[in-house]
Amino acid sequence: MRYDLIIRNGVCVLPWGEAETDLGVLDGRIAALGVDARAEAAETLDATGLHVLPGLIDAHVHLRDPGDAAIESIPTGTRAAILGGIATVFDMPNTSPSITSAETLDWKADYVRRESYTDFGFYVGATRSNTDRLDEYETRAGVCAVKLFAGSSTGDLMIEDDAGIEAVMRNGRRRIAFHSEDEYRLQARKPQFGAGMPYDTHRIWRDEECAFLGTRRIMALARKTGRPAHVLHVSTAEELGYLKDFRDVATVEVLVNHLTQIAPDCYERLGGLAVMNPPIRDRRHYEASWAALRDGTIDTVASDHAPHPMAAKRRAWPDCPAGLTGVQTIVPVMLDHVNAGRLSLARLADLMAAGPARVYNLAAKGRIAAGYDADFTLVDMQARRTISNDWIVTPCGWTPFDGMDVNGWPIATILRGSVVMRDDTVIGPPRGRLARFAW
Ligand SMILES: [Zn+2]
Repeated sequence: MRYDLIIRNGVCVLPWGEAETDLGVLDGRIAALGVDARAEAAETLDATGLHVLPGLIDAHVHLRDPGDAAIESIPTGTRAAILGGIATVFDMPNTSPSITSAETLDWKADYVRRESYTDFGFYVGATRSNTDRLDEYETRAGVCAVKLFAGSSTGDLMIEDDAGIEAVMRNGRRRIAFHSEDEYRLQARKPQFGAGMPYDTHRIWRDEECAFLGTRRIMALARKTGRPAHVLHVSTAEELGYLKDFRDVATVEVLVNHLTQIAPDCYERLGGLAVMNPPIRDRRHYEASWAALRDGTIDTVASDHAPHPMAAKRRAWPDCPAGLTGVQTIVPVMLDHVNAGRLSLARLADLMAAGPARVYNLAAKGRIAAGYDADFTLVDMQARRTISNDWIVTPCGWTPFDGMDVNGWPIATILRGSVVMRDDTVIGPPRGRLARFAW
């Protein structure tokens, strides 16, 4: 037997458990689990001492393209992703212009095929004026889901009222991804806070009830319409408890930052570099997030990579924009959590590969199994590294995890059989393709 690539001597994280199995790849797909010692290959990768995970997926990034390439773009953001051990990203639609029409969807699909280093899915934004066309848009090539901002967005990319949200839910059938903070409560509370207040005010203004109320409203509409919802960046103990009763209509995303940083400490230490939406909250919510990760409430973990220039992030609250870089750091930070005993590698593969595949109906990715795309993230669980700003290739050049010592590091990223990153080096030109979805 002759393969294109054989990965030898690694410990594979398979859907049914860890196993020392050599992997054979042919034509970009996994051809064999268990490879004869005499089998030949164009390329053999020795994974001795490494764990082989399914190619990890960051299902929530904002690559700001079209936008300002000095901050981030699809080529720079997907390069950051493969350096960080991510094989596939799903990109958000709130760009300039936003991705809300047939023309912008076509433009983005074309551009991604030329310029992306990762495989790529993208969201179509729901607006009041495209609501009746979303059933068509959600089935276009590369579209992972409709994204609905029920709060906390700008321009036409926000639908904050129940009637508007219900109209979107009644057009189409795939799972809709929601930003669910309640816009009315956010606006009503805003005048209580202002210039001169500390960064920690961000979480006081956007309090637990803003998030919980938004999620209760979405769940009521999901039950009413039967339309499944993916609740993005769930950040409160209250929502995580509540959502356990909505598993028929809801899946749950939690962000790596909410599993890693704790208020008020993060605001005191990082200032504007801790400001994101929904906000990083206190220890009670951090503990609830880990409990929900352990009991299976959480389906996916993502970064919500949302770069801004450092100068803007240094502005005083409330003038500093919300959003943090994260696509390059999510894997090292999560591996550190694995080494600290907070979750297993199998659960990490569930949250960042099988989970996104299940939630978005992603085809042929998310697990190491015959016939699936030969996407792998190879990690060294013994590696000790320090995350630093100078490692970050996103043009804005900073990470809230600068200076963090981590145990565990991504060593190689393999995309449909091509080694696209090895030992902190990007190999070859952009080779990304549109992710495929079934529904
Ligand atoms: Zn986001």
